[in-house]
Amino acid sequence: MDAKEFREFGKAAVDFVADYLENIRDYDVLPSVDPGYLLQLLPKDMPETPETWRDILSDIDRVIKPGITHWQSPHMHGYYPTSVSYPSIVGEMLASGFSIIGFSWICSPACTELEVVVMDWLAKFLKLPEHFLHATEGPGGGVIQGSASEAVLVAVLAAREQVVCRVRASHPELSESDIRGKLVAYSSDQSNSCIEKAGVLAAMPIKLLPAGEDLILRGAALRSAIEQDVTAGLIPVICIATLGTTGTCAYDDVDSLATVCEQYNVWLHVDAAYAGGAFALDECSELRRGLERVDSLNFNLHKFMLVNFDCSAMWLRDANKVVDSFNVDRIYLKHKYEGQTQIPDFRHWQIPLGRRFRALKVWITFRTLGAEGLRAHVRKHIELAKKFEVFVLADARFELVAPRALGLVCFRAKGENEITAQLLQRLMERKKIYMVKAEHRGQLFLRFAVCGMDPKPSDIEFAWTEIGTQLTALLAEQEHLAAVGKAGDVTELTQQFGLQLTNGTNEKSQ
Ligand code: PLP
Repeated sequence: MDAKEFREFGKAAVDFVADYLENIRDYDVLPSVDPGYLLQLLPKDMPETPETWRDILSDIDRVIKPGITHWQSPHMHGYYPTSVSYPSIVGEMLASGFSIIGFSWICSPACTELEVVVMDWLAKFLKLPEHFLHATEGPGGGVIQGSASEAVLVAVLAAREQVVCRVRASHPELSESDIRGKLVAYSSDQSNSCIEKAGVLAAMPIKLLPAGEDLILRGAALRSAIEQDVTAGLIPVICIATLGTTGTCAYDDVDSLATVCEQYNVWLHVDAAYAGGAFALDECSELRRGLERVDSLNFNLHKFMLVNFDCSAMWLRDANKVVDSFNVDRIYLKHKYEGQTQIPDFRHWQIPLGRRFRALKVWITFRTLGAEGLRAHVRKHIELAKKFEVFVLADARFELVAPRALGLVCFRAKGENEITAQLLQRLMERKKIYMVKAEHRGQLFLRFAVCGMDPKPSDIEFAWTEIGTQLTALLAEQEHLAAVGKAGDVTELTQQFGLQLTNGTNEKSQ
C-alpha cells in the first residue's frame, strides 16, 4: 500500500467510524452470533496474494461488525463506561502514524515530555495533592500505564521491594526468602479482581478484608488484621483502598486507612479507576479526603475522561521507590542526557520496556474538550444516573441495593433472587440493553452504569421502559404458571407463550 492508497483507505475508515458512532443507537448492544461464528467465516490461512482495501473494509462491515459488542452504545450499561471521543480516536491514529516506542527520553523526547505535561494537567484538574505533580519540587509525579491492573501491580511490586530492602537492613539475620515468605498485603472484599491478581503475580498474599455493611473498608478492620498478622510474625507491605468499587461504587475510608498505614509503615495505594473522574468536581470534593496521605493512586482515563482504552493514569508520591525497585539497566538503554535533567525515563516506572505514545490522545482530547467539557461529561453521567434512580424509586416492584454513586445505580426486583436473575436473562437475550449482575450478602442485583460518549435522557427512558416491560411480562408469565401449577418449568413456559427471547435483532446488526 502506498501513501496514495493509504489516504483513500484512511479517509474511508474515518467515514466508516463516524457513520458507526453516529448511528450506534441503531444496533442491538449485544451481537447475535454464536461462539465460533467468525472462525467459520474466515479462511484458515492468510491470503497468498494482496487484497484490496475496499474488499477488506467491506468484510469489516460484513463479518467483523456483527460480532462487535457495542461498548460505545448509550444502551451499554454493563461494567463501567469506556467512553471514547472523536479527538481521542484521532490522537490514537496519529500515535500509530508516528509509531514510536518511547521508553526513554531520547527514544522520543516529545513522548516523555508530553506525558509529563498532561499528567500534571490532569493532576491539577483532579485537584490532587501538589506533591503528585512533576512540576513540584520533590520525587513525585505521574505516568500513564496501560490499565488499572498494571498500575496496581506496579504499586504492589514496588511496595514489596521497598519492604524487602528495609527488613534486610534492619534484620540481617533473616534471609531474603525468609522475608519474602512473611510478606502480606490487604484490600477489601469489594475490590476489583485485578487486586487479587496483583497479589498472585507478586507472589504475596493479599488478604481481602470484609468491608462493612455499607461496603466500605475502614481503618479499624485494617488495624485488626495487621495487628494479628504482626503478632503472627508476618510483615505487612501494602493496603490497596478503592474509591469507587466495581460492584457498587463504594468509597473506602482513605483517611482512617492512612492512619493505620502510617503507623505500620505500610504503603497505601488508592484504586480510583472509575470514580477518579469525579475528583474534578467541587460537589464531589469529599471523595478526595485523605489523598494527601496516600503513596500512589490510579485513575482510568479510558473510563471517564473520553480517552479510549488503554490509558490509565498513575501518580506516585515518591517515584524513586518505583524506579529503585524496577531499575534494571543495560548499556544499550543508556543515553547521554540520562539523570541530567528532571525528565523521567518512564521505562523505570512500568512493567514493559516499550511504551506507547498515549499522551498524544490525552493532550488532543483535553485541548478539544477543555476542562469545562470534561467536567460536563462527568456531570452528565451523574445526572442521567439520578434520572434512572428516580425511575427505580418510583416503581414499587424494584428496590435500590446501595445508594446511587456517580453514574452507577445498583437495584433489583423485590423478592426472590430468581426474579432478578430471570429478568436479566430476558434482557440479555433481547439484547436491547446490556447490564451485568452482582451479588452482595446473598442478594443478587443489577448494575446500571451510564455509558457512552454522549448519552441522552431518552437513552435512560429507553432502558427503563425495556426493564419495566420485561419485568411485567415475566411476572405475568409466572403468575399464569403458578395458576396452572407449573411454575419454574421453562420449557413449558416457552411453549405456552412462544416467548420471544431472541427477538433482539434488527436490520443493521444482522
Ligand atoms: N479497578 C476498578 C475499581 C475497576 O472497576 C476496574 C475495571 O472496571 C479495574 C480496576 C480494572 O481496570 P483495567 O481494565 O484498566 O485493569
